[in-house]
Amino acid sequence: MISELRDGYCLHPDPSADPCSSTIIKAHTVQKKGGLSAIAEDGHVLTVKPTMKELIETEGNPQPRKIGINNASVFPGFCGKHDTALFKPIEGKSLSLTKDTAFLFSYRAIAYERFAKEAQLRGAAIQREADRGHLFRTQAVIQMQQDAMITGIRIGMRDVERWKSQFDDRLRSGERDDFHFLAVRFNQVLPIVACGAFHPEFDLQGNPLQKLGREGIDFDHITLTVTTFEGETIMVLGWVGADDGPAKALTDSFLAIEDARKADALLRVLFIHTDNLFLRPSWWKALPEADKNILNEMTRSGTTMRMRSGIEMADDAKSFLFADVAEVTRG
Ligand SMILES: [Zn+2]
Repeated sequence: MISELRDGYCLHPDPSADPCSSTIIKAHTVQKKGGLSAIAEDGHVLTVKPTMKELIETEGNPQPRKIGINNASVFPGFCGKHDTALFKPIEGKSLSLTKDTAFLFSYRAIAYERFAKEAQLRGAAIQREADRGHLFRTQAVIQMQQDAMITGIRIGMRDVERWKSQFDDRLRSGERDDFHFLAVRFNQVLPIVACGAFHPEFDLQGNPLQKLGREGIDFDHITLTVTTFEGETIMVLGWVGADDGPAKALTDSFLAIEDARKADALLRVLFIHTDNLFLRPSWWKALPEADKNILNEMTRSGTTMRMRSGIEMADDAKSFLFADVAEVTRG
């Protein structure tokens, strides 16, 4: 299964018009220089994505683990040429924050999610074989669980395919009219970087935004990238679609939070909604055990272990990060 998932391919939308280079690379979803390196210590960060081994050994309670910045946030989803060409404007030393650069952050997040979901589907097909040799009754239980899981992955795949093709169209045409974003620049380096996309379900005051699990409905998505440029953390939320839907409502709820608590709200959204999240080791290490538990629990949100809820999104009882907002850009 692991070797299957190592197989990469290029997600560039037009490889026939603009051929790929020969090697599929480990494409970073968060830039290594200045992004990951800004929170790394001895070339390492922490990842909240557990390995199967750790899941088993900790009986479902894994802790963030060390990973080198060459391997952190990477996926084999672009050839070297297209990765360089596509993301050059957001890989430099400094960043000019425009609708076009915000779009590239979102595009990369969607490409990553598309790749991850498809790899999950490939992995699930292999897992289906895991019942071999078991009693019939055990096989039936395994297959029923697998069936529910695969159904879920397929629904997720359908959504992320649609998002990717929307982003591909706009990448090709340069059309940005229905791409929207909110970017916030903090006045310092936060000890986190991340990149992902998700369905907004609750806003940061705990209000429901959209109810998932219904057939035949196009759900709103949103991408979230958090990285660092020139000693300041930047977060970019972006989406293609309506300017009055669930994605917009989530950004409004973020802006409604007082500036001094915005970094904490960001931290909640990240721990709840993405596992492509990286931490500065000494920051995590210094947290009291109780705080580590709160954050670890959030990573189980939306799994069979913990239902997604408005309460967890709105819960601002704890303060983990102290930063001020230097700039807010919308578009
Ligand atoms: Zn390519």
